[in-house]
Amino acid sequence: MASTVGFIGLGNMGGPMAVNLVKAGHRVLGFDLSDAALSAHVEAGGEKADGISDLAAASDVIVTMLPAGKHVRQIYQGEGGILQNAKAGTLLIDSSTIDVESARVVSAAAAEMNMPMVDAPVSGGVGGATAGTLTFMVGGGDEAFAAAGPFLDIMGKTIVHAGGAGNGQAAKICNNMILGISMIGVSEAFVLAEKLGLDAQKLFDISSTASGQCWSLTSYCPVPGPLPSSPANRDYEPGFAAAMMLKDLKLAQEAANTSGAATPLGAEAAALYALFCNTGGNEKDFSGIVNFLRGS
Ligand code: NAD
Repeated sequence: MASTVGFIGLGNMGGPMAVNLVKAGHRVLGFDLSDAALSAHVEAGGEKADGISDLAAASDVIVTMLPAGKHVRQIYQGEGGILQNAKAGTLLIDSSTIDVESARVVSAAAAEMNMPMVDAPVSGGVGGATAGTLTFMVGGGDEAFAAAGPFLDIMGKTIVHAGGAGNGQAAKICNNMILGISMIGVSEAFVLAEKLGLDAQKLFDISSTASGQCWSLTSYCPVPGPLPSSPANRDYEPGFAAAMMLKDLKLAQEAANTSGAATPLGAEAAALYALFCNTGGNEKDFSGIVNFLRGS
């Protein structure tokens, strides 16, 4: 059944996600601060909302895809925001990658207004958003998860219920902390191999079938050659930008500090990615950290 979906944040990710909802036959009311993003949405068959309050009042479902927790808090809880203007029963889906604390605070405020909400951050990048093959990591109650399913299915391929409110964000930052740490580990091994005169292809062939095997090595090898599909073969054009990895590592550190978890390697990974980003790596793929470690 076609619904009216309000979509706020029509950027690199939100733009194509909203297009997939339009293609599936939903009426999609879009809002963004950027005129260019709004025009692209209208060209793709979406409608333009005049503001957040109008969008919220008219929608059965609202999806947000925003930069950070402060934007999400403002747009949901601020004056003229979603919670003030949406009807009771409106389904709320926040797909932004934000801090766990903000996700839980906003979800609790939505519950008070009888609006079911899920935090549903994604992995899969712009390619996955365009193809409708994103992975959604979802936090929220069973009923909200079930209600969100038909919409998430349109935008994604793998939908995982990670638990209660905030657990989607928790899953996302824990996964990406593993990824950041493992990419640094794999990169250090290639740099050491170079110094020792061990060919990169030989290290790849051996470690990819030995105990050093991991995704950062076999699906995203940080040096050119062994895996032709990896960004290393395209001068580290992202892919997954180092700036995005740094954002997720910082969110993981924030969560570690508030929850009291010991994550010394996560802290070190955040520090190394900050240095890499501050020395020209910001726009490079996150696997480009190998060049920073090599000192080249
Ligand atoms: P983006 O900057 O391209 O898009 C964000 C959009 O939000 C922009 O168009 C901006 O104008 C809009 N916006 C900001 N404040 C607003 C407001 N107050 N009202 C209305 N619109 C507002 O970012 P993106 O790459 O689309 O990322 C969005 C989220 O998805 C982020 O949380 C990011 O961490 C996450 N994410 C991104 C990727 C990726 O590969 N780009 C992958 C996974 C997750």
